[in-house]
Amino acid sequence: DPVEWPTRDLLTHRVQTTPERTAMVDADAGAQSTYRELDARADDVAATLATSVDTPDGTVATLVDTRPAVGPLLFGAMRVGATLAPLNVTLDAESLSAQLDTLDADLLVCERATEELATRVADCPVVSLDNPTTDAVQALETASAAVEPVEVHRDATQLVLFTSGTTSDPKGVRLTVGNLVASATASAFRLGVAPADRWLVCLPTYHMGGLAPFVRSTLYGSTVVVQREFDPSETARVLSEFDVTGVSLVPTTLRRLLDAGWRPDDALRFVLLGGGPASPELLHRCRERGVPACPTYGMTETASQIATALPETASEYEGTVGQPLVCTDVTVVADGDPVSPGERGELVVDGPTVTPGYLDDDRTEDAFGPHGFHTGDVGYRDEDGRLWVVGRVDDRIVTGGENVDAGAVADAIRACPGVEDAAVVGLPDEEWGQRVAALVVGAVDSETVRDHCRSKLASHEVPKTVRVTTSLPRTASGTVDRDAVRERLES
Ligand code: ATP
Ligand code: MG
Repeated sequence: DPVEWPTRDLLTHRVQTTPERTAMVDADAGAQSTYRELDARADDVAATLATSVDTPDGTVATLVDTRPAVGPLLFGAMRVGATLAPLNVTLDAESLSAQLDTLDADLLVCERATEELATRVADCPVVSLDNPTTDAVQALETASAAVEPVEVHRDATQLVLFTSGTTSDPKGVRLTVGNLVASATASAFRLGVAPADRWLVCLPTYHMGGLAPFVRSTLYGSTVVVQREFDPSETARVLSEFDVTGVSLVPTTLRRLLDAGWRPDDALRFVLLGGGPASPELLHRCRERGVPACPTYGMTETASQIATALPETASEYEGTVGQPLVCTDVTVVADGDPVSPGERGELVVDGPTVTPGYLDDDRTEDAFGPHGFHTGDVGYRDEDGRLWVVGRVDDRIVTGGENVDAGAVADAIRACPGVEDAAVVGLPDEEWGQRVAALVVGAVDSETVRDHCRSKLASHEVPKTVRVTTSLPRTASGTVDRDAVRERLES
């Protein structure tokens, strides 16, 4: 039998080696806690969970927005062998009830702002991180007895995270301890790591991009800085005041920071930029301001990063998301077979960060093939393995019998001067079956965009409908909400 890799939870390991390092900074309150203090809080959570969750193997769902308490919740769950399932606080009651059903959760942890919603959607006991306002909810109290940490196994499901629901209903993705450790390790090999690192989280922690820094900082022995809500001027202040060395952003939040006049301090080593495509214009503005933007391709099913381009790579190879991280294999597959560099196909990922599957078995079976996990994204690579992500497999538009790749059209539009971002979809059309339509953000008019497209694209690819707007509708994790784009273009 292979070595089973049993170990104490990651925080227990950390506190044994560097108890006095700063684990967490609460940017809103200006408070700090050491690993010893984080460990004590995780112990409190663990003791409480041990009384209300069937451990090991029970599930704790949370309806909690970004806040420092996410750390103790995560490590408290790990300590008793429970799975943590952070739910999206912006979802409606019906979707949340369905997700809680899928999870079969033993307990739902809420906070003041989500308490009312939590009691409506839960069939299990609800506890709050804050003082509850109704009798139906108990406080997640500080329990007294310390629990003995359970052995943590590499293959144990530590997290269930739901995908953003861009293409269909959100899927519950199982992520193991091994997935999280592999992702943290591979990321460190690409971005580098130092004990003095401070990683700012201002994205939702119910998506991998917001949660990953909590896991990683504890493994690395560095610090996570937590800001409850992104706000351009406040986030700019936090970046500077707390000497932040790395931050995870989506293109929209980065753009808002730049619009607010933000210039990074010398301390900032990387801006991990993911969730959706970064336009050449945005990356150009980053270079002008000295922002070390690292375009990143990732997804929930791979515990975040698949590929990340360092700033120099991003400027030399326009539009690339860089090479895959170490131990991650990406195969470009068309009609079931790998294709050559430069040719497009579906990106298929294999490696230790890839989920063992969804909570839903049917969707798991569909997602895996001989080359690994089918991402549903279309892209290509160059001779050196650098990747370009073009769009989604089901972004394909068929107009007048011709195939149009929506991602390629969006790329062409993004290269038009004045355009900041674009989303391209197919709209139902009596004459053509579907017609190409584009929602465009920027200081341009629709005729300029169409002229630009005529010079760059085949005539059937040129959008028949172009609408200019101030921002693209997005899901909570920053991906473009395609249904909402269609609605806006149709209205
Ligand atoms: P669902 O799977 O429910 O449809 P989703 O795929 O949007 O939702 P996430 O896991 O949050 O859910 O997002 C991952 C997806 O985001 C990727 O599969 C890809 O389509 C897109 N994406 C991420 N990074 C990039 C990038 N750099 N360029 C283009 N697309 C990206
Ligand atoms: Mg997806």
